[in-house]
Amino acid sequence: MTPQISTTSDSFTPPPSPLHDARRSFDWEPIHAPGAIQPHGILLLFDAATGVLSHRAGDCERLLDLAPDDSPKAGDLLGISIDDLIVSCLLNLNDEPVYVGLVRPRDRRPLAMMAHRTGRFVAVELLEAELEGSVASALDMAGAIFTRINACQSLSDACAIAVDQVRAITGFDSVMIYRFQDDGSGSVIAESRIARAAKYLGHRFPASDIPRQARELFRRNLVRMTPDVGYEPAPLVPAPDGAPIDMSHCILRSVAPVHVEYMKNMGLDATMSISLLVEGELWGLIVCHHYSPRLVPVEAQLFCRHVGTSLSAFVLAHERAESARLGAMQTAALDTILEAIRTSEDPERRMRTSCDELKRLIDSGGFVLLGEDGLIAGVGRFPAEEDRLRSLSAFLDEKLRGCQSYATDCLSKEYAEGSAMASEASGLLAIRLQASRPLIALWLRPEQVEEIDWAGDPRKDGGLPGSAHPLAPRLSFATWRETVRGRSRPWAARQIEAVELFCTRVGYAMQRIRLERANAELGEANALLARQATTDPLTGLSNRRLFDDRLRKEWSRARREDRSIALIAIDIDHFKEYNDRFGHPAGDECLKRVAQAIGGICREIDIAARVGGEEFALLLPGIDVEAAAVVAERVRATIEDIGVEHPHPDHKVVTISLGVAAASPARCKDAEALMVAADRALYRAKSSGRNTIAVEREG
Ligand code: GH3
Ligand code: MG
Ligand code: MG
Repeated sequence: MTPQISTTSDSFTPPPSPLHDARRSFDWEPIHAPGAIQPHGILLLFDAATGVLSHRAGDCERLLDLAPDDSPKAGDLLGISIDDLIVSCLLNLNDEPVYVGLVRPRDRRPLAMMAHRTGRFVAVELLEAELEGSVASALDMAGAIFTRINACQSLSDACAIAVDQVRAITGFDSVMIYRFQDDGSGSVIAESRIARAAKYLGHRFPASDIPRQARELFRRNLVRMTPDVGYEPAPLVPAPDGAPIDMSHCILRSVAPVHVEYMKNMGLDATMSISLLVEGELWGLIVCHHYSPRLVPVEAQLFCRHVGTSLSAFVLAHERAESARLGAMQTAALDTILEAIRTSEDPERRMRTSCDELKRLIDSGGFVLLGEDGLIAGVGRFPAEEDRLRSLSAFLDEKLRGCQSYATDCLSKEYAEGSAMASEASGLLAIRLQASRPLIALWLRPEQVEEIDWAGDPRKDGGLPGSAHPLAPRLSFATWRETVRGRSRPWAARQIEAVELFCTRVGYAMQRIRLERANAELGEANALLARQATTDPLTGLSNRRLFDDRLRKEWSRARREDRSIALIAIDIDHFKEYNDRFGHPAGDECLKRVAQAIGGICREIDIAARVGGEEFALLLPGIDVEAAAVVAERVRATIEDIGVEHPHPDHKVVTISLGVAAASPARCKDAEALMVAADRALYRAKSSGRNTIAVEREG
């Protein structure tokens, strides 16, 4: 492993706590401004405003015949004006050095010029170039490697191609791909090497091997090379007065002594690294080792940069495709669960019985729903003890205060009682659901005992706080196996996002259900009120109010359509006598039976109503008087046929009298007239002996 740490002990800022981890010391080192270069090239800093050479580093006298006190302009020394250099620097969006051409010193091999901006200077680095092959063949090779990497089906295939290609082009003894983990440590996921090179495939390196600001430089500076670990740094001349010059992007930037030590401890003489950036973040490194000094010409370095970029593009596409695939699966599962909850009579009960589906939503060992009193429902592996779950519920309640989710892959680190349930719940992912009472949905992951092969014991590297060598690099890279307990597999960001989305959507669904229910209840209450306002409570027929209303409307409609409308007025015969004989409750029963019979004869569009004590009316839209007379007769006969006993000596059964009238509104005064006519007919029916119909034909 070749972390590119550079540090200057004179500007070392002490860490804030004396109890810090010694390895973290590196995190405070300013490593971008060492004030020196590696001597396998030349660094020239030209003042961007005047174009005059301001600082230099490396053997300028030998390679460029440049006298120590000479300050030529860029154009005179290199044949390219400062303005052209500045324009060239703009080519690279990420401030990386740009190839601007060759300089051909007398009697020497040409040197490649790489330029970039730093502060008020234009930095030009002169590096050994190979100059073999044509631009066309280089482009062809670059295209081929891009295509090969991007045609891979898996990350490991793509990495294997990348390490093989880089080794082939550079001739390094060993080329690896080092992938960062979330905690800053890294592991070697691909390797191509000569047999005698150390094997690091599968090994883990601690986060401290590549401190934070070194990672930041890797992010900004895609290729770094140290061709000879035993080099003598060549200082900038003259030494900058005042602020140190930012050399972040210098290809030749000098390496910190501590890192040189680190490389020597690994037994290396030359190293190179190529950064792998995914969406602007440092995803990993292609790392090259060599067991003797090795200078790779600038073209090969640029080619390696291209391999890195191709692999980064593959990783991005691969990760995006994978997350889209999982996202689609999760969305489908989520939709199914939500639909089930939404359409359920009892959403909370449905949730309780959906534990299996909920568990499947996230790759987990168990799933539980917790209420205030502990377990409500659960599936898979979860702690069985009720009191444990109750106190876990209280802990989570606290953790979820003010945030949507809580996730840990090492519960015991934050919750003392967690170690007792490590085998089921080393990892937790919790959300609070907005049901009618507090509910916590909890996905659990069991302990995953992990055997990590560290490249050296990560606890031993560096000195201890207060020791004489706080920044001493690691001495041993021999495999050291660590067994990690109490941890689960970590939760992926997209899994946390998925449960948060679930939480939000359950919240909406519950809100909607509550609203829908309130609306339905309101609707029912309104309908009941409306029914009560228009229905006769004893018989269930329309009441007088609805009848009048409907009569008015039907009258208007019949007028518009120029149709007839008929009305039958009905009155029970000798009903007072019936009541007197059998009593009022029996009278009510009799009213109901008569009403039922009248209602039964009606068509859908007719309106039967109880318009008085023992009086009914039947409105028949679109019917003329003759047809209405037929209906009336049928009603009369039906009531008689029921044969409800009546004390009247002439009738013996309950009978009714009916008055029939019809009118065409277009030719008639108003609805009132129709009612008067029907009443008149009824009166006549009564007069002619009852249990009969009378028809008013002039209406
Ligand atoms: P007629 O044949 O001339 O119609 O004789 P009638 O006795 O039916 O006529 P009258 O108008 O004298 O009596 C109507 C009776 O209807 C009076 C009352 O006792 C009875 N009645 C009115 N409303 C109700 C009711 O809601 N329930 C009961 N049981 N009886 C009622
Ligand atoms: Mg009456
Ligand atoms: Mg009567």
